[in-house]
Amino acid sequence: MLEPRPSGPWLWVRLLSLQVIESRRYKDPGMPIKAVVFDVGETLVDESRHWGEWADDLGVSRLTFCAALGAAIARGWHHRRVFEIVCPDTPYALLAERRAAARGPLSVTAADFYPDALSCLSRLNEMGLVVGIAGNQPRPIEIALKRMELPVNFICSSESMGVEKPDPGFFLHLVDRCKLTSPAQIAYVGDRLDKDVIPACAAGLVGIHIRRGPWAFIQSSAPDTPEIKQAIGSLAELPELLRTL
Ligand SMILES: [Mg+2]
Repeated sequence: MLEPRPSGPWLWVRLLSLQVIESRRYKDPGMPIKAVVFDVGETLVDESRHWGEWADDLGVSRLTFCAALGAAIARGWHHRRVFEIVCPDTPYALLAERRAAARGPLSVTAADFYPDALSCLSRLNEMGLVVGIAGNQPRPIEIALKRMELPVNFICSSESMGVEKPDPGFFLHLVDRCKLTSPAQIAYVGDRLDKDVIPACAAGLVGIHIRRGPWAFIQSSAPDTPEIKQAIGSLAELPELLRTL
């Protein structure tokens, strides 16, 4: 059964309340950038625990595992190929199955976040920006992030979106998620040049490089690295940088 339509004074109360909700949702930040979307690993989340647990499970020292990961990064390999170096005789699928049986599904907690991450998300939210999280991540990580009730407007993953960075479709999907008309109104923040910053810029977004984590250091030191216009060393620098764009 349909509810009766509000009329008279109740109609005005309803319209006013909707206007208040809309003004909160669409508070204009007063600058060209209207939305900021974050990569996850090594941008918001410190992956030291994750990789350290892999080393422990595989019975190699954390130093050895990290050196192998660095070698994979320097060769331009997908990160999962680190297991070809450390465990050449066992398929990754079997290793992942064993890990899930021993430790449960992949997860992330507040303790894994870099110390500047949560305060940055809150600050950008207060500034009236649309704030999102979207990385090349499996669905369990997306679910874990959603459980944390972070001060963001949306969280999605490559698995749920059906497209991975550096595919331009990944970044264009964010324009819809941010409910904006132009990719130029969105800043995408990530630690990787090849998967985050360069493809974000190519798709028309403003790519911002955060220089932390192994990908950021190794890729920045490569001889053929292009000049990156927008870079920060910490998320604490991000609100000010956004005001200058
Ligand atoms: Mg990353």
